[in-house]
Amino acid sequence: MTLHIQTPVESWPRPHRLHIQLKMECFQPVGSFKIRGIGHLCERLVADGVDHLVSSSGGNAGFATAWAGRQLGVPVTVVTPSSTPQVVCDWLRGEKAEVLVHGSDWAEANDHACRLTESNGAALVHPFDHELIWAGHASLVRELTSQLDSPPDAIVVAVGGGGLLAGIDHGLVTAAEQDPRWAEVDLIGVETFGAASLAKGLAEGKDAALDGIDTVATTLGARQVCRRALQATDHRAVHSLLVNDKQAIDGCVKFANDRRVLVEPSCGAALAPIYDDVNFFQSKQALADYHDILVVVCGGIGVNLHQLKQWQAQFGLDEGTVKT
Ligand SMILES: *Cc1c(COP(=O)(O)O)cnc(C)c1O
Repeated sequence: MTLHIQTPVESWPRPHRLHIQLKMECFQPVGSFKIRGIGHLCERLVADGVDHLVSSSGGNAGFATAWAGRQLGVPVTVVTPSSTPQVVCDWLRGEKAEVLVHGSDWAEANDHACRLTESNGAALVHPFDHELIWAGHASLVRELTSQLDSPPDAIVVAVGGGGLLAGIDHGLVTAAEQDPRWAEVDLIGVETFGAASLAKGLAEGKDAALDGIDTVATTLGARQVCRRALQATDHRAVHSLLVNDKQAIDGCVKFANDRRVLVEPSCGAALAPIYDDVNFFQSKQALADYHDILVVVCGGIGVNLHQLKQWQAQFGLDEGTVKT
């Protein structure tokens, strides 16, 4: 049994200097790629006798855990900090999860979630830092090997705690065992300036952590990436791209107009470079030679039409374009 589905690969609809393909993870049953890794972890935990899943994520990871638990027939508790939007709590309850609002930030909620798992049979489901999560995310690359005629030059991913990037690296290493061309694929991790944990880790090493998070792309808000994400540099080139919040929102707006799909700012951030080829790809020596790019359209449930309009107004994007 797998809880995720195979998602389509779509080609970029308009003429572009680059050949761009999109892996449409926004079409997963939970609206994001998260179900690949979290679903895999939850399945294994339940198979090993766990009868209560606990998450401390008031975002896509918590929602994926709630959804997975319901499919697997075990109760789920999601501990969220008081900053979590009401609409997210409603989504979680809609999946029959117990929602406990505890603490004012994620760390406090997480401490409480950890205490809950001290009882027998309960297990904590981390949002990104677990081997089985990376193994689950790696299924995305396994699909690509049958969907694409040849590997892209680089895969673009949004980076929060780095679980997705780690999983894709893992998948590429495995794919290369069958077809060595997959060993040549580079990774481009995109973050907003206010959540640049990968950029900091690449520059300063595995112990580097941000002092705080300040971005509209709250899903990218991890102070530190997991070690496994930085280990991707052992296998391939990993480039960091940073976009500002306005560019991330602009990515969401343009994508909604182009593809008629709503995605979170985290995903808008990953899309921003393809909307501004000149300032992102062509301005960096290391990226200028790419011809074939695949963007993971990571999706996310933290968006609706009303919210997107508010962000548009907040960043002066009412016309739907970045004015330079
Ligand atoms: C979780 C998530 C991310 C970041 O993934 P990490 O594994 O934490 O790096 C980006 N976008 C969306 C929509 C997510 O749900």
